[in-house]
Amino acid sequence: MIDLNAIVSKIGADMAAMEDRGRVADYIPQLGRVDPQQFGMAVVTAAGDTYQTGHASTPFSIQSVSKVFTLAIALGRLGEALWKRVGVEPSGHAFNSILQLETEAGIPRNPFINAGALVVTDSILAGHAPRETLGEILRFVRMSAGDDSIHINRNVAASEEAHGHLNRALANFMMSHGTLQNAPDLTCGTYFHQCAIEMNCLQLANAGRFLMGGNAGQNLISAEKVRRINALMMTCGHYDGSGEFAFRVGLPGKSGVGGGILLIVPGKASVAVWSPGLNRRGNSRLGTMAMERLANATGWTVFV
Ligand code: GLU
Repeated sequence: MIDLNAIVSKIGADMAAMEDRGRVADYIPQLGRVDPQQFGMAVVTAAGDTYQTGHASTPFSIQSVSKVFTLAIALGRLGEALWKRVGVEPSGHAFNSILQLETEAGIPRNPFINAGALVVTDSILAGHAPRETLGEILRFVRMSAGDDSIHINRNVAASEEAHGHLNRALANFMMSHGTLQNAPDLTCGTYFHQCAIEMNCLQLANAGRFLMGGNAGQNLISAEKVRRINALMMTCGHYDGSGEFAFRVGLPGKSGVGGGILLIVPGKASVAVWSPGLNRRGNSRLGTMAMERLANATGWTVFV
């Protein structure tokens, strides 16, 4: 019998005592202001039980974790046709790299690097005003979390808008290859706002329940799509640190530069962790460590 209460509390206490907390991302100035001394974790099981520790009720910027939700929406809308515009291979490059786009005809490697996420957002945007698309993204996130209070932090969105030159470069480059269908500024503006969605660990763990699959998955999307999104989270969810995360944790996860990670234990649990200090690959340092300890203590893995 797994004592999740004891496991989660111990992880919280261990992480609170850690000295090296990594470096907070500051290329988006609003994120650079977040206090690195924070750590929170929430586990929601398939049975609906909840366990939490630390700053699990403090809202944070979900950043790239939002790419999981937009991918779910895009797959629902376009189905297999999405894979003509974005690949399913790990990139082995940084989250914001432009390198492979040059040699691979403007088709991003996968939907979780920035270029790929811009394509996904562009595909949902098609024919709509950014405001409508953001409404659709928020509706999906609120429905999956069962919480209508989830919102976008406009200061974070504005901060990224003011400093998002590299994302604009990616979008313009893809536009010239015909990979994007909307004006790059509209796609980027929508993307900056989806990244600025704020949630706390409890809300994020709840929002991830649809990826547990089976009855716990609320049937928000088909089982086949759940399988695909989890596969991509496992192979591409941590950028050029995806192999290491799979090796250390052994479960599909998606990280964001705000320091959040969403982890899915298929059929069993949805887990969210947040600690703003990042490791050298841009993934939460303590968050990754906490997920590794959780996997070890529970025996949860997709590999044995
Ligand atoms: N909004 C961030 C960016 O585009 C997301 C990056 C991330 O969370 O990895 O740079």
